[in-house]
Amino acid sequence: MKVILLGAPGAGKGTVAKLLTDYDGSVQISTGDILRVAVKAGTPVGKQAKAYMDAGGLVPDSIIMQIMEARLQEPDCAKGFILDGFPRTIPQSEELKALLGKLAIKLDMVANLVVPREVILDRLTTRRTCSNSSCQEIYNVKTNPPNADGTCKKCGKPTIQRDDETEEAILNRLEVYTEKTAPLIDFYRKEGMVKDVTSLDLKEIVEDITKALEK
Ligand code: AMP
Repeated sequence: MKVILLGAPGAGKGTVAKLLTDYDGSVQISTGDILRVAVKAGTPVGKQAKAYMDAGGLVPDSIIMQIMEARLQEPDCAKGFILDGFPRTIPQSEELKALLGKLAIKLDMVANLVVPREVILDRLTTRRTCSNSSCQEIYNVKTNPPNADGTCKKCGKPTIQRDDETEEAILNRLEVYTEKTAPLIDFYRKEGMVKDVTSLDLKEIVEDITKALEK
């Protein structure tokens, strides 16, 4: 599948993307995960991105497009991909359109995860993420907790609250979403690509998306 997942921070894009990879072996491409790995490794991209990320702002489009142009041409993308957290601005979606045209790749769908604001706020403040860069499994202290000692059930490394999960950064991320990313829904709706997904149940969300893909 060649799918874009749209939705506010905390809408469940990361978790849904991971579940969709089991469906047909498509890869999850999360620009947030790629950037967190770069920050941890202290690469030039990581050094440029860190301050924007910690404040809950967006990393400049030029950096993101440089990452994605290379990533989409890696061999594991041939089977399909689920874009999680990208594109996030109108210029990114326009540049993605040009890039996909150049690579002769056709998108199947843009799934828009619709989640009420109070659910989003609750999820973001209770989220924990595995600190192991190559795992980054997502937990929720209320609904899907890590091990009792706070370690990851998958790899055993400590889970943490992300630097951009302070209340101030969360509110900023939601504002940035409304201002910069929500307009993408209309952009893709005009192209007839959008499937709205309103369920809050993970299994139902995945079923809605895979059924729509099979049509
Ligand atoms: P996420 O894990 O998707 O919530 O992303 C975490 C942070 O990484 C965001 O708050 C941004 O600072 C940055 N980021 C991730 N993806 C993008 C993108 N496509 N464009 C700009 N910044 C991004």
